[in-house]
Order: sequence, then C-alpha cells, then structure tokens
Amino acid sequence: MTTNLLDYDLEGLVAWCERLGEKRFRATQLFRWIHQKGAIQFDDMTDLAKSLREKLKGSAHVLGLKVIQQHTSSDGTIKWLFGVGEGDAVEAVFIPEDGRGTLCISSQAGCAVGCRFCATGHQGFSRNLSAGEIVSQLWFAEHFLRQYLATDDRVISNVVMMGMGEPLQNYAALVQALKVMLDDHAYGLSRRRVTVSTSGVVPMMDRLGLDCPVALAVSLHAPTDSLRDDLVPLNRKYPIAELMDACQRYLAFAPRDFITFEYCMLDGVNDTPAHAAQLVSLVNGTSGRAWCKFNLIPFNPFPASGLFRSPNEKVVAFAKVLSDAGIVTTVRKTRGDDIDAACGQLAGDVNDRTDVVRRISKQRTIVLKSVN
Ligand code: SAH
Ligand code: SF4
Repeated sequence: MTTNLLDYDLEGLVAWCERLGEKRFRATQLFRWIHQKGAIQFDDMTDLAKSLREKLKGSAHVLGLKVIQQHTSSDGTIKWLFGVGEGDAVEAVFIPEDGRGTLCISSQAGCAVGCRFCATGHQGFSRNLSAGEIVSQLWFAEHFLRQYLATDDRVISNVVMMGMGEPLQNYAALVQALKVMLDDHAYGLSRRRVTVSTSGVVPMMDRLGLDCPVALAVSLHAPTDSLRDDLVPLNRKYPIAELMDACQRYLAFAPRDFITFEYCMLDGVNDTPAHAAQLVSLVNGTSGRAWCKFNLIPFNPFPASGLFRSPNEKVVAFAKVLSDAGIVTTVRKTRGDDIDAACGQLAGDVNDRTDVVRRISKQRTIVLKSVN
C-alpha cells in the first residue's frame, strides 16, 4: 500500500524511514521538503540520494486533501472546502490581518457536542479527522498562499482550531497534528500562536496541558449551569465549576498567562448586563488576578437555529460591564461574512451530506491551480 507521508509527525517519519533502512537525518530532510517547501515530487527533493528517491517513488506519496471549493471574500478571507471521502467535507479559513495570517482549521467532520447556536453542531457527528487530514489543511493553505501571493516567506503565523469539530474529542490526532505545527523542521509555529478552542472537555484539557500546552480558548457562552446546559450540552457532563477549575490548572502549563473565553452573543438569551455581571463574579470568584480575557462573538445566524444576533448596542453594553470590572474584552470582527466563512457557519452548506456535490456544482467555484 502506498504510504501518505503527510500522515506522519517527525518521529513517525523517522520510524518509517528506518524501516526502509534510512537514517534519521534523511527523515528530517524529507520532512522539511514536504512541510517547509511544499514539495510533492520526490525528484524535486534534490539533496536526497537518487537511490532513496527511487525507493520513495515505489512506496510513498504526498497526497493532500481534495479541494472541492475555494471562495475568496472581499475582505481577503479565503475559505476552502476539502473533501474527506464518503460525502464528508470540512472547511478551513484563512484570515489575513496586519502583521499576521491566521488559519482556522477543522478537527472533525461534524461535531457530537451539538451546541444550539452552531451549524456544525446541528449537522451532527460524522467522523474524526486523522492527524494527516488536520495537518493537510495547513500544508495546503500555506503552500497555496505562497504561490497565490507570490512569496517565499511564511504566510500563516497563527493557527486556531476553531473550524468544524471539537478538537478535544479527537485528542490523539489533535496532539500529533499540533506537534507538526510546532516542529521547527515543519511550520515552526510558536505555542502562543496555536490555539485550541474547546467547549470544555475537562479531562482532555488536563492532558493537553501535560502533552502539548498551546494557547487555550474556552467556549463559555453562559454564566450559569442552567443556561449553559441548554446552549452547550456538554455542560451537563462538565459543569461550569469543574470547567473553571480545569482552566486554573491549565494556566500552570499554558504558554500565555491567560485563557480566552469565547462568548457568542445571542439576542435575548445570554446578552444582558445582568449576565455580564454574573460572568464577572464567576471569574473573579475563581482567582483574584486577571487570568482570563473575553472575546465576544456576534452570533452568525443560520435558519435552523431559531436564534438571533444581539444588536450592537447590547454587545457594547455587555463588553462595558466586563471591561469596567478590569477584564480585557474584545468583540470579534466578523470576517468573510459574504462567503459564510464566519464562526459557526462552517459547513452550513453540507448539512445534507448526500447533497454536497449537487450544491457545489451550482455554486461559484474557483478552479484552483492547487498544489495537490
Ligand atoms: N468545538 C470548539 C471549536 C470549534 S467552534 C468550540 O466549541 O470551542 C469555534 C468557535 O465558534 C466557538 O467559540 C463556538 O462557540 C463559536 N461558534 C459556533 N457557532 C457559532 C455561531 N453560529 N456564531 C458565532 N460563533 C459560533
Ligand atoms: Fe461542536 Fe464547537 Fe459547534 Fe459546539 S460550537 S457544536 S463544540 S463545533
């Protein structure tokens, strides 16, 4: 069977190369060609011995995900839909900003958590992505963007696991993929610039702190268990008090000295000044010092949710309660609105998986001069 080299982290590639009778440094060279240079053809890997290149041609390939669609927003945001087989598709979104390029990637096809305000949650769970499928989103986007922007410099400086899926419910693949992102022989991203976003899988937060501490964002969305039970069903298993304790424990390992709480602003549901005041007591009660930030996300509506975006005045008033209490609070700018690339709209197109191909053929599709 042909091996896909994108499935390996460096240690995995070393072990695989050793089975071919090749030394560790050969695996490192190969790894750099794949991830740093985006090479696909073994003949392009000019510093590998010809005999090794021949061996590789017989047993391996570098095979990215199938790009089904690319949409470019007027604000420069680019969204890709990748096919992952059997009618499943996942999305990644590139968000260019001054001085940085952020890639938002997916960890699962669908999601089992089922948050009320999330299109992916409404879609249900299909399957976990493999580590290779997670890394392939970064590999493709980085090397596509270098071609597209005609640069040899690194384009993606930040990765956020905020696409489809709950990353901490796909733990082993997540950690392997994070290791590739952080590896200096691959993307060399800083731990502070790689963020795992979770709805609060408490035991896995502890393990992540030990195995691969990166920046952490926690999707809070409510100050009380009764409200959070309804919005984020996982809260029934790991209620807010346990989640807060897990956040405190994570801080001992985190590369940053704060945790970001994400809070989706839902009109008439969780967006009053009283809710904000409850949040202040919640986080001040947990620790005396400034250990968290809030990122308020204007809800991105989709019809099946029956929910609405809080009006701007309410978001501003809510933010003021938090800021006045000394909590750093930002309101997320909505990017890529015109291409449905905003949070929680991901894969809104693929609710009915059997319908994917038909829908896609109807939509504006840019055929890529892709690297895979
Ligand atoms: N499963 C993880 C990561 C993916 S969701 C998590 O829940 O954290 C990434 C972020 O998008 C989360 O904060 C999530 O709450 C938010 N989100 C989901 N649906 C949204 C929507 N319709 N509008 C705005 N934000 C949404
Ligand atoms: Fe899953 Fe996150 Fe969506 Fe909740 S918000 S359903 S955890 S992807």
